[in-house]
Amino acid sequence: MYQAPRGTQDILPEDIPYFLHVEATARRLAALFGYREVRTPTFEDSGLFRKGTGETTDIVEKEMYSFTDKGKSDITLRPEATPSIMRAYLQHGLHSRPQPQRLFQLLNCFRYDRPQAGRWREFRQLDIEAIGEEDAAVDAELITLFWHFCGALGLNELSLQLNSIGDPVCRPDYLEALRSHYSSHQEELCGDCRRRLAANPLRLLDCKVPTCQPIADAAPAFIDHLCDDCRSHFELLLTLLKAEGITPSINPRLVRGLDYYTRTVFELYPPKVGQQAALGGGGRYDGLAEILGGRHTPGVGFAAGIERLVLNLKAQDIEVPPMSEALAFVAHVGDAPEAAAAANEFTRHLRARGVAALRAVGQRSIRARLRHADAADVRWTVFIGDEEIRSGTVSLRDMTQPEPLDLPVGEAIERIVNGAWERNGV
Ligand code: AMP
Repeated sequence: MYQAPRGTQDILPEDIPYFLHVEATARRLAALFGYREVRTPTFEDSGLFRKGTGETTDIVEKEMYSFTDKGKSDITLRPEATPSIMRAYLQHGLHSRPQPQRLFQLLNCFRYDRPQAGRWREFRQLDIEAIGEEDAAVDAELITLFWHFCGALGLNELSLQLNSIGDPVCRPDYLEALRSHYSSHQEELCGDCRRRLAANPLRLLDCKVPTCQPIADAAPAFIDHLCDDCRSHFELLLTLLKAEGITPSINPRLVRGLDYYTRTVFELYPPKVGQQAALGGGGRYDGLAEILGGRHTPGVGFAAGIERLVLNLKAQDIEVPPMSEALAFVAHVGDAPEAAAAANEFTRHLRARGVAALRAVGQRSIRARLRHADAADVRWTVFIGDEEIRSGTVSLRDMTQPEPLDLPVGEAIERIVNGAWERNGV
């Protein structure tokens, strides 16, 4: 028998309320801050991610689902949203609209990663971006939005890790200092770090190999090497976050895995921090538009993992709004076509009045029908057999009452509709 591919999951009906709740809350908070929804394609030209996400990132080196399609185009299933949204911004000339363009997307992403708790090969993200403005006020706004989004879900006691990784003015000097620190420890470095030292020295700082930890901890911190503009950007961000009541921990080793970040980088963690625990992260990417061949366009954004948020809601026993379930279960009894037709008509009346109704199908015993009604957790059951057809009634059971009642069809419908009103305001 086929199984879902490794690293993917089926989300069954009982888990859907969690996903809907996270997505609805995301849309509500995004709207509250003036962000508008976009939807970009599930796949893009591979070059968009190779250039945008960056050749030396784990995503591009190891994790992309890339293939050549029948038209010989080199295609990649999106591993993240930022390059796609920036491409859309540039392609549609959104710079001619008021800046920044505040955009968000709920999307599925694909990464050929090693599956483990909270790490999937297909997963979902909320991605929020503000493109076209370099003011630190936008960085603060996005972090505040992320913070309130988690709060609105009931996820509190968050910890915000923050760092600045400078810009093209101050980065060369910092990288020089970093290289010189690491060069004096070359012998002790893991294989990956030896490669990073040449190819992508910033990534040295987020190595997880135990023997590299003391070297990374002793490395120079970027915030001590920022140029004046980057320093005042960072200080303004700290002031604005403070005014929002958000106290970040400055983490000099936070660089994030992607090549395009400049200045602000951040991650948000729930109270129990584990290796895979970040709810999401993001940062500023003032150079990305030019990397993609566009004009200079600053931007800042973050992505939150929907599955991670759901895991945390469950771990903290946070209740989410239930789905509206069927209220009435309508069954015919016996194999007379009149009973089936009457049950169909009864069901049609209920649905026309806005009452969700489950129509029993096939031939089953009354006991089996009752088990089904019980499992569906309905409020009313309606049975229609030969006897009811003859007398123009139905057998209506209100599950909160001990006995069923024989009622004329019209009266039974009114009872259910009125009961549904009281319960749901239907
Ligand atoms: P990233 O773009 O890697 O910073 O990811 C942003 C957020 O997306 C992470 O903090 C996670 O919450 C989520 N995420 C990233 N990769 C995965 C994955 N493989 N499976 C599930 N969630 C993920």
